[in-house]
Amino acid sequence: MRAVPAARGAGLALALLGAAIGPPPVAADGWAIVGATLVDGTGAPPVTDAVVLGRGERIEAAGPRAQVSLPRGITILDGRGKWLVPGLVDAHVHFFQSGGAYTRPDVIDLRQHRAYEREIALLKDALPRTFARYLLCGVTSVVDVGGPFWNFEVRDRASRTQMAPRVAVAGPLVSTVARPQLDLGDPPIIKISTPDEARALVRRELERKPDLMKVWFIYRPGDDLAAGKAIVAATADEARKAGVRTAVHATELETARAAVEAGADVLVHSVVDKPVDDAFVELLVRRGVVYIPTLFVRTGYDLVLSGRFVPTPAERRGGDPDVLATFEEVKPLPELLSRPKRALDPDRERIPAQNLKRLSEAGVTIAAGTDAGNIGTLHGPSIFRELRLMAEAGLTPARVLAAATAGGARVMGREKDLGAIAAGRLADLLLLDRDPLADVGNLESMHRVVKGGRIFTPDELARAAARH
Ligand SMILES: [Zn+2]
Repeated sequence: MRAVPAARGAGLALALLGAAIGPPPVAADGWAIVGATLVDGTGAPPVTDAVVLGRGERIEAAGPRAQVSLPRGITILDGRGKWLVPGLVDAHVHFFQSGGAYTRPDVIDLRQHRAYEREIALLKDALPRTFARYLLCGVTSVVDVGGPFWNFEVRDRASRTQMAPRVAVAGPLVSTVARPQLDLGDPPIIKISTPDEARALVRRELERKPDLMKVWFIYRPGDDLAAGKAIVAATADEARKAGVRTAVHATELETARAAVEAGADVLVHSVVDKPVDDAFVELLVRRGVVYIPTLFVRTGYDLVLSGRFVPTPAERRGGDPDVLATFEEVKPLPELLSRPKRALDPDRERIPAQNLKRLSEAGVTIAAGTDAGNIGTLHGPSIFRELRLMAEAGLTPARVLAAATAGGARVMGREKDLGAIAAGRLADLLLLDRDPLADVGNLESMHRVVKGGRIFTPDELARAAARH
């Protein structure tokens, strides 16, 4: 572990080494975080005065101090008075969207104020800073749930970047509707009309080794539900033959049910139109489907497009100031002023919240995901909006944390490597100043962020996020 100077604490190291039992072996690249309360992500009770011992990018041991002996010569980080949790996973983001006001011309067309080509060029240029923002917010892994073929280059770039989260990706969306406004030659959304077309697109994407396939199953009254279901089935079948799972956007109870019956492994949004029924709950449990509620994203659009977006402290600290500036910039534009002024409906998210609680209590695997990149949902800090809404929906902090760690690891297909603090796992963890089990808001109290055994201070991550 390349520790920051402040982490060395030679006196503490000596004191701790004195407590080790027997003559310990020397491990040059070994490191340990000592004295923190360990919340390991498995749902096990917290362990006070814990040791997490690592070598290089992996965890070698984690548990009560008395049970973990510390080798000589390792780097020690003092964790006393602090809490350790696994790094967070945002299981639903899109790097082809900035989160800013100009990023979805198919939803609100502001292209005469900023060309879509320019929007894409700017967000590509900002990628290294966006990566750093994720780490700054404690998000050590993200799942990009669909975008242009250049998404695969984003994954490669992240894997070569020290201050970047781990990135899993889906390629272009297999879609039941067209979005020509987003097509600059490498469209993120591809309209598919038949199961054979779906299979052909899956095969084209499989050449790039996607972590997931993604279907945009948009249903409008009068649409042929069976035709959409057949496209999901063909996609999931073709992907599964190559060992790839399928994630589906299906936000009504009947489309979500059809998607799961057709083989969806992950539902990337809440069921928003009605309360889920017993048969649906049972279906998700039986199929082992992962459910990602994305409770904030619709509100994000509403807040920006009604000129009422107010950044949270975490967004001021961790959000991209250029993206936040677009929210102010568009306020006086006629395209926004001419929109019907309606009050935000506090009741609208009631059904999704109730569905989340019910599915969670029934034992469905929940993953936390923001849909970051959509207008008003910022890459990085929007995870904290999402986690608070999950808690307000009635999930305990421990369940919210499990969704944001182990649940996300499931979506990535990396549950053996990520999502818990345990021997053999990758060392992605957060050292917090406050107790995350007392209040999910305490997940914002970042003291150190560790990714793959590298320790980062929030200050150095903030500098990397700001560097132009
Ligand atoms: Zn999405």
